[in-house]
Amino acid sequence: MKSSNGNCYIFKFGGTSLQTAERILKVLDIISGFDQPLAVVTSAVGGITDLLVEASSNPASLHSRKDEIHRLHLRLAGELGLEGVSLAEYEAHLCETLADLEAAGSTGDGKARDLILSTGERLSTSLIAKTLELRGIRCEYIDSRPFIRTDSNWHEARVDLAATDDLTSKALDPLIERGVIPIVTGFLGSNEKGETTTIGRNGSDLTATLLGACLNAAEVWIWTDVDGIFTADPRYHRGARLLPEISFREAAEVAYFGATVIHPHTLWPLLQTEVAVRIKNTLNPEQPGTLICSEPKERGKILITTSVEGVSAITVGGYGMVGVPGIAAEIFSTVRDEGTNVLMISQSSAEHNITFVIRNEEVPQTVASLEKALKEWIEKDHRIDRIRVVPDTAIITVVGENMRGRHGIAGKIFSALGRNEINVVAIAQGSSEYSISMVLKAADRRLAVDAIHGELDEENGNV
Ligand code: ADP
Ligand code: ASP
Ligand code: MG
Repeated sequence: MKSSNGNCYIFKFGGTSLQTAERILKVLDIISGFDQPLAVVTSAVGGITDLLVEASSNPASLHSRKDEIHRLHLRLAGELGLEGVSLAEYEAHLCETLADLEAAGSTGDGKARDLILSTGERLSTSLIAKTLELRGIRCEYIDSRPFIRTDSNWHEARVDLAATDDLTSKALDPLIERGVIPIVTGFLGSNEKGETTTIGRNGSDLTATLLGACLNAAEVWIWTDVDGIFTADPRYHRGARLLPEISFREAAEVAYFGATVIHPHTLWPLLQTEVAVRIKNTLNPEQPGTLICSEPKERGKILITTSVEGVSAITVGGYGMVGVPGIAAEIFSTVRDEGTNVLMISQSSAEHNITFVIRNEEVPQTVASLEKALKEWIEKDHRIDRIRVVPDTAIITVVGENMRGRHGIAGKIFSALGRNEINVVAIAQGSSEYSISMVLKAADRRLAVDAIHGELDEENGNV
């Protein structure tokens, strides 16, 4: 059953909007002041999921973390004005939820860990609902686990959109139709056995777009701590320009290549819909923010510079590799069997070098497997003479749909790097020609983004 709502908005508030009572009050103001049908998705209070991750893997910290989380939420509840019966009700919910944490224990088991991680969103979301009730807002705390249906890939569970679509409409439409605002936990789902799963760190963005697709929303608004999507991370790069509009394709690419302002998995539920996403600032709600939609009206010549850190470049090389069928297949099937995620690939045209970039923590295991799998090619045939690791690198990417067919962009990027004496380890251009990525030493990351972003500013002048 497809929801016929069409006029309801989805608001998602991230951990940065829920860090202190002062910020939560702004969230409450935004929700209370909105006069259209609405469903709200909330993350855990900022920093809580990190504490839960630690508690789930370190038995020595489980009890102290539980007490710390209890105290912190109780303090927030007090600062937000809960008292008497409402405070007692919230504290009962706190105790009940944190009992799950204690029962799961620090076994290191994926299922237990997801149950522990789920407590963060259950505590923050119920707190928001309770404090809104205090203001006389008609709302209901909703645990998303019964209707966000996933597989059992713990911590990174994949969502079954068809099943979720039906369950979500049934769970939320009746509330919205009665004028009640569902206040829904982000990040959480359950498998077909009803066991708690989580959909990947920072996954509440995805919960919001899932609701957007399933409820056929008017728009999904992701509220965070910056005014929208900028031409570079505004926290670190002065002169970054705010973008009024950007396309789904560009947003997906910047998210994938390090712009944490939206999670890389956020947009897929909306690709077959007309539902757009808006990024807005909880601390500056009057700003219109950035609209992410399929066909931006004001298509400028924007170029966005992003960066990913914590990665290493692996090069498999040797003149004997040229024209030999099967080497690339062997390399990438070995990497896949290891479960390693490849962020970028670059290959020299003569095939005597294949470079790919993976996360630092996946390097030792991946290289050991490659050495084993390519042993014959290295020792017997001598077709491969090296597997080289450049540790601690960063990927810098420039994204812009209008890069296609424009001359001189690559030239500008590389002269900016050259002038700053920044060495490039590898380069790759997206086959769609709207992104170009380069790998360089992590220590050069900030300077490289500044240099490239500065150089391209003139190109961005019309946004
Ligand atoms: P939340 O807790 O609200 O989900 P995040 O920390 O995940 O917030 O995302 C917001 C942050 O994204 C901003 O504080 C900003 O530093 C970062 N960011 C990185 N690149 C960009 C960009 N190009 N435009 C806007 N913000 C960016
Ligand atoms: N609380 C979860 C995390 O920190 C999910 C989210 O914030 O979106 O990863
Ligand atoms: Mg986020």
